[in-house]
Amino acid sequence: MKLYNTMSKKKEEFVPLEKGRVKMYVCGPTVYNFIHIGNARPMIVFDTARRYFEYKGYDVNFVSNFTDVDDKIIKKAIEEGVTADEISKRYIEECKKDMEGMNVKPATTHPLATEEIGGMIELIQTLIDKGFAYEKNGTVYYRTRKFEDYGKLSHKNLDDLRSGNRSLLVTGEDEKEDPLDFVLWKPKKEGEPAWESPWGEGRPGWHIECSEMSKKYLGEQIDIHAGGEDLIFPHHENEIAQSEAANGKEFAKYWLHNGFLNIDNRKMSKSLGNFFTVREISGKYDLQVLRFFMLSAHYRSPLNFSAELMEAAKSGLDRIVTAAENLRFLLKNAQAEDMNESEKDAFAKTREYVENFEKAMDDDLNTADAVAAVFELVKYANTTADGESSREYLQGILDVLVKLTDVLGIIVEKKEELLDADIEALIAERQAARKEKNFAKADEIRNELLERGIILKDTREGVQWKRA
Ligand code: AMP
Ligand code: ZN
Repeated sequence: MKLYNTMSKKKEEFVPLEKGRVKMYVCGPTVYNFIHIGNARPMIVFDTARRYFEYKGYDVNFVSNFTDVDDKIIKKAIEEGVTADEISKRYIEECKKDMEGMNVKPATTHPLATEEIGGMIELIQTLIDKGFAYEKNGTVYYRTRKFEDYGKLSHKNLDDLRSGNRSLLVTGEDEKEDPLDFVLWKPKKEGEPAWESPWGEGRPGWHIECSEMSKKYLGEQIDIHAGGEDLIFPHHENEIAQSEAANGKEFAKYWLHNGFLNIDNRKMSKSLGNFFTVREISGKYDLQVLRFFMLSAHYRSPLNFSAELMEAAKSGLDRIVTAAENLRFLLKNAQAEDMNESEKDAFAKTREYVENFEKAMDDDLNTADAVAAVFELVKYANTTADGESSREYLQGILDVLVKLTDVLGIIVEKKEELLDADIEALIAERQAARKEKNFAKADEIRNELLERGIILKDTREGVQWKRA
C-alpha cells in the first residue's frame, strides 16, 4: 500500500513500525461551534483510511483530540456569559452527533487538551532542560533556530521564513529571542481559564497539545500523523520541532494532509460567511450523502461543494443502496439454495471488482476509483442476480458489496422513513418536555427530527413541521 508523504513529497510504501499495527494521530477540531463541512473532510477521509487498514487486518490505534482551550472558545464563552468549559463540552457533544451521522467511528481515544495539562508542562520542562525552550515573563517560547531540521515538513527554509513572512516579525512579542520562536506556554489573562505551572498560572500553546497527546496515547514514535493541509505550517512543523527535540526520535513516519473543501469554487471560510455546518446539511440530506460526496474525490485534491454535486452524490448512493435492497428482496424469495456451476463462475468474477477496489485504495487511498469499482460491482449484481438466482449467490454478492462499502463507511440500507404519526408523537413528547422546562430534552428531540429531515417551527398556533 502506498501513501503520499508530505515529508518526502512522494508516494511511499507503507511499512508499519510494528508488524500488524498502525498508530495514527489526526488533529481534531477546536470546539467553539458546530463543525462545518470543511472540518468534516479530514474526519471522513482519515476514518476511511482507518477502515481500510482494518480491512487489511491491521490493528489500528486511532487517536484524535478535541482542542478545548483556545481564544475562540474563550471569546464565545464571554459572548454567551458562560464558562469556556460549558462551550467546549457542548460542542464536543454536538460534534460527536455529527460524526455518528457521518458514520465516522469514534477514535480509540479522543483526548481533551484540558485534561492533559500536566503532561504538557512536563514536555515543556524537558524542552527547557534540553535548551530548546526558554521562559520570559511567564511565557515559554520554543527556540526555533536550535532545531536544525525546522522546515523539513513544509519545505521552508528558516531564512526565507524570516525575510518572507513579515507577520512573523510583527508579532508584538518583542521579548522573544528570535521572531521565529513560538509559544509553548502563555500567562493567564484576566477571566481566562488557567493552570498552575513552574512559570506561573497560564495555559498551553496549541502545538504542544498535540505533541503531548500523541506521545501519551501512541508513544514517542507513530506511523501516521494527519490533518488538513492548512496544518502543515506552522502547526505540524512545530509539533515535529517539539516532539523530536524532546524525544530524540523521528516523530511520525508518514504525514498525510487532505486538500481543502471549497464552496462554489471559493475557499470556504467563516469570515466570508460561505460555509455550511454539518448540522445544516443534515437538515437537507442524510449525512451518508455528504460522506459519499467527500469520497468521490481524491483526499488530496481540492473539492468543490455545490448543490449539483450533492445531488449527484445522492443519486449515486441511491443506486448502490437500491442494488443492495434488491439483493435482499431476491434473497427472501429465492428458491434454489446452493450455487450452480454457472453461478460459481459468475461469482468468481466479482473478485475482479474487489481487486480493482483494493488497487485503488492501495494507491494512496484513491477513493474516487474505489467508488468506481463499487459501481461496477453494482452493475454486475443488477445484471446477474434475478428471481432464478440461488440464495448462496445472492448472499455472496451482497456480502462483497457490504464489505467494500463498509470500508468507505457507507451503510447500504434504506433508512426507514419517519411516518407522520411518529413525528406527531415526538412533537407531543417535545411539548411535554418544554412544559416541564426540560429544554435539553426538547432540543434533543428537535435535533433528532432535524437529523431525520423534519424541520419544526414554533408558531402562535402551535408547532408546525415540514420535511426538508
Ligand atoms: P480547526 O478546528 O480549524 O483546527 O480544523 C479542524 C480540522 O479541519 C483541521 O484538520 C483542518 O485542517 C480541517 N479543515 C478546516 N477547514 C477545512 C476545509 N475548508 N477543508 C478541509 N479541511 C478543513
Ligand atoms: Zn494537532
